[in-house]
Amino acid sequence: MTPADLLVVVAHPDDESLHCGGLLHRTTRRGGVAVTVTLTRGGAGRTLGMCTEDELAAVREEELRRATEVLGVASAEVYDLPDGGLVDHEPEGTALVLDALRRWTPRRVVAFPPNGMNGHPDHRAAHRIALAALHRYRGTTDVLLVTSTAPYTECGRPGFLAPSQVEGMRLPATEQMVVGESLEAKLRAMGHYETQARSVAKILRCYPETLFTEAFHRVTR
Ligand SMILES: [Zn+2]
Repeated sequence: MTPADLLVVVAHPDDESLHCGGLLHRTTRRGGVAVTVTLTRGGAGRTLGMCTEDELAAVREEELRRATEVLGVASAEVYDLPDGGLVDHEPEGTALVLDALRRWTPRRVVAFPPNGMNGHPDHRAAHRIALAALHRYRGTTDVLLVTSTAPYTECGRPGFLAPSQVEGMRLPATEQMVVGESLEAKLRAMGHYETQARSVAKILRCYPETLFTEAFHRVTR
């Protein structure tokens, strides 16, 4: 299998476009191979009345297909761990990510930071899963965790980290990537998540700067 230039590990369909759609597109635009690993099908999200709750996972998977196609992603792998319950399935998630690492031998891996960007328990579990898999992986790869340069000021949500904790755990940005020519593709990808319009709106509200400049924290291993 061709080694991947970039492998992105996230929790839900939409995380990849919202948090690093620019980096994904830039990588593929330059001829690189990008792969996404999404640990859940996102079946516990909101439907906004566009489908039934039973249909949501399939609808979100289709949204992911369209969004990642726009970004030029070579393979969008979706696993079926429980949305909202990733924290109870970390060993399974770790095994799945480790398997993806071994198959794709990526040059670079992007994952969530410890605060999950918004304190979401699935995002935080996805961070631990990615790091546990990388710890067991014998290959060499650069590891970048998504972060932001502006403070987090959202209201708290039940089950999420408190906003002050999210902000207190925010990692310093060691790399910043100007989205530039990839902005149109990033917006188009984000626009495919119709059922997740509130998440798209929230990213625009919380992290408007990351639309134009994606920030990452390089992990030294
Ligand atoms: Zn998410």
